[in-house]
Amino acid sequence: MKKKGMIFVISAPSGTGKTTVINEFLKGHRNDFSVSVSVTTRQPRKGEIDGRDYYFFTKEKFRDYVKKGRFLEHATILDNYYGTLRETVLKTVNSGRNVIMDIDVQGAGKITKKVDCITIFIVPPSFKELSRRLLNRRTESVDAVKNRLALAKKELKERSKYDYIIVNDKLADATGYLDNIYALERLNRAMAKSKKEKL
Ligand code: ADP
Ligand code: 5GP
Repeated sequence: MKKKGMIFVISAPSGTGKTTVINEFLKGHRNDFSVSVSVTTRQPRKGEIDGRDYYFFTKEKFRDYVKKGRFLEHATILDNYYGTLRETVLKTVNSGRNVIMDIDVQGAGKITKKVDCITIFIVPPSFKELSRRLLNRRTESVDAVKNRLALAKKELKERSKYDYIIVNDKLADATGYLDNIYALERLNRAMAKSKKEKL
């Protein structure tokens, strides 16, 4: 039987740098991972491309997908809906390829109940630095930044529920930790397999 791919679930408050860390990590592992492209009802940011960064849906279309059970998990975040496409993820994992996804704490809680995942929470070095990154990114209004920071306070409380925590202070270190987690998880799997074979 073909070995299933692993699912890496990454969560972090908006602005922590999870997209940046994931993109850096993927530079070294392009052949091993597919990125799960989520669906959202929020407006695209400058430079975001439909189908690459997100699938941008209307709320009506999103609700229709919910009714049809097409999401593995979905959540409402700051008045918008976000969801992970069931079929794409399961097909990829069943083909033996790993999937990496960036989802919020509500989504991570739901998905771990449905499929085996490795969960990773990325924290900013400080709240002050998180505010600085969010403001510097210049993708949201000051009000939207305030809402994201208020949500970040709540989300940070959930970090102990994750398998691993990474601090994204220096980007190279954060990416290095993610590399190490991947190496460790591959080793764990190989050891579990050889244990099974000996039984
Ligand atoms: P998220 O996906 O978590 O919302 P982004 O990856 O968009 O966050 O990063 C938010 C901002 O912080 C971006 O402007 C990015 O360039 C910057 N950033 C990410 N990681 C670091 C880091 N380690 N040091 C300094 N700035 C960073
Ligand atoms: P942003 O609007 O900054 O791209 O994302 C806001 C939040 O939505 C982030 O915490 C991100 O992890 C989360 N998110 C993105 N895609 C999904 C998804 O498919 N499901 C869930 N539950 N959260 C998602």
